Amino acid sequence: MKQATGWKRKLTELATGTVLFDECMDRHTSIGVGGPADALVFPESAAEAGRIVAFLRAEGIAVFFMGNGTNLLVRDDGFRGVIVSTKALRSIRVEERGGGRAAIRAEAGASLAEVVALAAREGLAGIEFCAGIPGSVGGGIRMNAGAWGSEMKDVLESVDLLNGEGNVRTFPRASLRFEYRNLDLPEGACVLGGIFDLARGDRGAVEARIREILRTRSGKHPLQYRSAGSVFKNPKGVPAGRIIDEAGLKGLTLGGARVSEMHGNFIVNLGSARAADIIGLIGIVRDRVRERTGIDLEPEVKIIGEE
Ligand SMILES: Cc1cc2nc3c(=O)[nH]c(=O)nc-3n(C[C@H](O)[C@H](O)[C@H](O)COP(=O)(O)OP(=O)(O)OC[C@H]3O[C@@H](n4cnc5c(N)ncnc54)[C@H](O)[C@@H]3O)c2cc1C
Repeated sequence: MKQATGWKRKLTELATGTVLFDECMDRHTSIGVGGPADALVFPESAAEAGRIVAFLRAEGIAVFFMGNGTNLLVRDDGFRGVIVSTKALRSIRVEERGGGRAAIRAEAGASLAEVVALAAREGLAGIEFCAGIPGSVGGGIRMNAGAWGSEMKDVLESVDLLNGEGNVRTFPRASLRFEYRNLDLPEGACVLGGIFDLARGDRGAVEARIREILRTRSGKHPLQYRSAGSVFKNPKGVPAGRIIDEAGLKGLTLGGARVSEMHGNFIVNLGSARAADIIGLIGIVRDRVRERTGIDLEPEVKIIGEE
């Protein structure tokens, strides 16, 4: 890497918004752990994001994109490179389509909660399944977030991507490769936003469905603790939470981290957890489940940073 002072000064010049240096990521992730990133930057337009990404790439500096940090675990020694947050890219609006359909166009940093709330106000049906998922539009698209049998790919019309050279292109959904909890993106690509294709429906019915989903979720998920949501992907046919429960691992504790007693696929921060506690617990759960069932649970949560 080049002299830190040189690239940091240039990054500050390129960015119109906030740039934080040596910023501890426990403040920016829902699970509340993580050491410092060399820099955390919040571009305020697609063009600015493009300039920053192209500069960092040319300098050979590692770049990681993040949204709301609700599926993200940063190791205790932090991340050497620049984390680009989409949080300042948050415009969101409805576009009429006719024929009983309307679209919501949202930038990557808008929260899924805002999209759900706008859809409810407008009586637009199709995206209720996102109620209670705490991520951003960009993170949701990248993770192909889903619940209740639906996922992002079912409602997306198109996705705007920024490539590593700083250029933006719109991709129709059919041209993208979505799979369970993943959108296969080219190396270095950032989701800048997406268009959700929704049906004009009854506002009362949409709101009732959202209330029902939120009620069910609060009875199933340990929302009083900080977490990163589901730790493991569900192997085909069986929820990972049930496998972990049947292996007797609920309540297992390491340092300040615990396998939730409420939901086996959540690891919660009891308040003082370090990333090492959570990663250690992930390893123990994986080993015990493999020994007991032969199933190798694959983490859903993204782990980054210095080993
Ligand atoms: C209490 C709780 C409940 C949850 N329930 C669900 C659920 O029901 N269903 C579900 O699917 N998930 C759930 N999650 C997980 C999480 O909310 C989703 O995966 C969400 O889509 C992540 O969005 P984010 O903006 O927080 O992404 P981040 O955590 O910031 O990032 C996650 C990944 O996406 C990438 N990413 C983020 N933004 C971009 C971008 N603009 N361009 C390219 N890559 C990007 C990151 O590099 C990283 O690899 C839950 C989490 C919590 C804490």
